[in-house]
Amino acid sequence: MPHKHDKTEFQKDTEGPDVTETQVREIAVRELLIEKGILTADQIRKQVEDWEQKTPALGSKIIARAWCDNDFKKLLLEDGTKAVAQYNVGMGDLELKVIENTPEVHNVVVCTLCSCYPRPVLGLPPAWYKSSNYRRRVIRESRAVLKEFGTDIPEEIELRVHDSTADLRYLVLPMRPDQSKNMTEKELSKIVTRDSMIGVTTVRVPS
Ligand code: FE
Repeated sequence: MPHKHDKTEFQKDTEGPDVTETQVREIAVRELLIEKGILTADQIRKQVEDWEQKTPALGSKIIARAWCDNDFKKLLLEDGTKAVAQYNVGMGDLELKVIENTPEVHNVVVCTLCSCYPRPVLGLPPAWYKSSNYRRRVIRESRAVLKEFGTDIPEEIELRVHDSTADLRYLVLPMRPDQSKNMTEKELSKIVTRDSMIGVTTVRVPS
């Protein structure tokens, strides 16, 4: 006698039935690492959990500190990796390069090849950062792309696009808004957004 639930249709996997070549490679490498005893499944799970819990709040705190503490700002621009170590951020083998926005130059970050991102300070990258659309267009038509984010960079301001790599990650030090003169470091950290540290927006004081 067939079980009465035999015809139940289960909800499809959100990733769809097709497994990409990259996913197959990831599964193969992961299974091999576990099989050879180099990593355990639990260690991998824990790392993913850690990544997913990181938020851009840490980056915001670092930027607000740089706005209030000149020595820290100097160190952050000279040696980003060393500066963020003060916040217990380990960059591993990665170099963190912090680039400062000025009245003359606006910086924006991309990874044209894949999705390299300053994860230790900002957490996981947003979906648009990984999209081929952003990666391709921000190089060729930077001003137009920024406009789509609501950011108007006047022609007289130079726009520099920085292409991240596997060993080098960029973080933008946005300009401190004029209207923020009386704000404390803690208050400032609340207005520094993720997107301003990628460079697709600027920091504004909410009215
Ligand atoms: Fe990448």
